[in-house]
Amino acid sequence: MVRDRPRDVYLPNTEDLAEDEMRVIACGTGMPTTRAAQAAACFLVELGNGDKFLFDIGSGSAERISSLQIPYNYLDKVFIGHLHTDHFGALHDLFIGGALMGRNVPLRVWGPSGPVKELGTAYALEHMRRMLTWDLAARAGNVDFRGYALEINEFDYRGENEVVYDENGVVIRSFPAIHGLDGPVSYSLEWNGLKFVYSSDTFPNTWFKEYAQDADLAIHESFIAVPELVSKMKFTPESALLVGTQVHTAPEAFGKVMSDIKPRMAVAYHFFKDFDTSTSVYERIRKTYDGPLSLAEDFMVWNITQDEISVRMAATEERTWSPPLAAPAERPNPNDREAFAKKSSVPVDAMAFSDFINSGFDDVDDVLRPIYKEASEVLGQEFPYPGDE
Ligand SMILES: [Zn+2]
Ligand SMILES: [Zn+2]
Repeated sequence: MVRDRPRDVYLPNTEDLAEDEMRVIACGTGMPTTRAAQAAACFLVELGNGDKFLFDIGSGSAERISSLQIPYNYLDKVFIGHLHTDHFGALHDLFIGGALMGRNVPLRVWGPSGPVKELGTAYALEHMRRMLTWDLAARAGNVDFRGYALEINEFDYRGENEVVYDENGVVIRSFPAIHGLDGPVSYSLEWNGLKFVYSSDTFPNTWFKEYAQDADLAIHESFIAVPELVSKMKFTPESALLVGTQVHTAPEAFGKVMSDIKPRMAVAYHFFKDFDTSTSVYERIRKTYDGPLSLAEDFMVWNITQDEISVRMAATEERTWSPPLAAPAERPNPNDREAFAKKSSVPVDAMAFSDFINSGFDDVDDVLRPIYKEASEVLGQEFPYPGDE
């Protein structure tokens, strides 16, 4: 049955998914060189059973995600294909910002091992957590701290169609990708007879050809064509040829991949999509592939059922505030400060202002006291001014 969509655009939070329906939203489709028009790689997969998954979370994508106004407790699962910043550079934004905007469950992240420990996901994420020591230390004990926890799941990058996630009827598998160094992977997600595959970054490879077969939606990188790499991105011809055909997948090669796996819908991403360059990508893909094709850009939306795949753009709001809470917040727990001190080996004394900084506080009590009085009156509850208790 072909569904009757109420609008030509997707307005977030106005359409319930049917029980048998998958929705994929591009929250980043661009390049490592950041720009306002396109964030770097990030795709959100939403299922009719209520589950949501993020595949890659490249630089700039956290703002796109926030535009969808999804309660952050539901954005707690991220699958990273490889550790280039254009594929995980917004992870710390989701980790901290998501908790600030209502996530009160741990952020769960999956990603591949590397040829050595230092090139694996666990190493990168444990160091990200260390990078955030000041940020976390300054929040512990001052906010509901439950969401500031990171669950790191590293799996063997050499797994060939190995299951890395199996919960609630959703099975996610990984298989090796070829990009940069050993370590990168591609993913498939299967649920309710539907199959989504995501290459992250890769040169065309035999694993994708085998394990992406029967995909309903197949997302694979397609890089900017070599002439535009030279003219628009100022690459030398030598590096344009190397990066545009060997490190990444050239549009002609993307077409060949899709002709081999024949998905119900092929999606090309990882190029700046502009009026003067997308024709070149499109025509080069069409030399080798004549099936259904989407040239992705940020906020492109695919609704997928057994009968139909529709492609639209989302109309989103830039000036979003916090989305609704999925679960009520708890009051800050002062014990979190000590627990964090112990775990991070920051002395607990260092997690409060020193006498030196305390000596610099200006006295503005006379303008702040009325704010407490006002809140107490409006909310019908006594809020004592700090120090008065
Ligand atoms: Zn990459
Ligand atoms: Zn990339």
